Amino acid sequence: MSTPTSLFPRKPVLFCDFDGTITLNDNIVAVMKHFNPPGWDEIVKDIIAERKSVKEGVGEMFALIPSSMQNEVRDYILTTAGIRPGFQQLLDWCKAHEVPFYVTSGGIDFFVYPLLEPFGIPQDHVYCNGSDFTGDTIRITWPHDCDAECDHGACGMCKTAVIRRFARDDYYRILIGDSITDFPGAKIVDLVFSRSHLTDRCVQLGLPHVPFETFHDIVSYLDQGGRQS
Ligand SMILES: [Mg+2]
Ligand SMILES: [Zn+2]
Repeated sequence: MSTPTSLFPRKPVLFCDFDGTITLNDNIVAVMKHFNPPGWDEIVKDIIAERKSVKEGVGEMFALIPSSMQNEVRDYILTTAGIRPGFQQLLDWCKAHEVPFYVTSGGIDFFVYPLLEPFGIPQDHVYCNGSDFTGDTIRITWPHDCDAECDHGACGMCKTAVIRRFARDDYYRILIGDSITDFPGAKIVDLVFSRSHLTDRCVQLGLPHVPFETFHDIVSYLDQGGRQS
């Protein structure tokens, strides 16, 4: 009997977005809406319209919030963020079939790590941005910035740089995501599981994608070797 992974043309590897994908909503937008620092909504509009890079916009938005609010902001996210159904089942599937699973997030360490804590994903499989609360306002740091090959240039956390470490000839690269931080990566993988703006973009560009609602949908698809049953 064939195993699900032998149905793929090459060894599968998964790259999964965090905000709006693993969590039900985008935590950065949720924080801005709740604390409502003057000017944040213009910045979000500029990011969505791609007039401003994710790196620039996210940096500017957090710079609107005083560092003294660190605990309040963190507690707000940790108490309001919900995890999309089936996430644990997807992790279990990856473990059972020895499929590498990476979190590639444009989110920030101070909420990404605590929210993922219950799931036991090794720390070196989680990529996200950093934070510094020592100044007057929150400063975002970029430990995984773009590499020389990224034609995008200002991702903040460069998903394509992480994906490129897994050679196209050896791996069947799968991206899971929902929005703007996933657009560059979607262009270079073999298959996209998409929601929301990412679905629209995949349709526009004719990229191979499967719209999903829960991680259970993804597991049943992976069980068929990435094909529709
Ligand atoms: Mg997202
Ligand atoms: Zn990049």
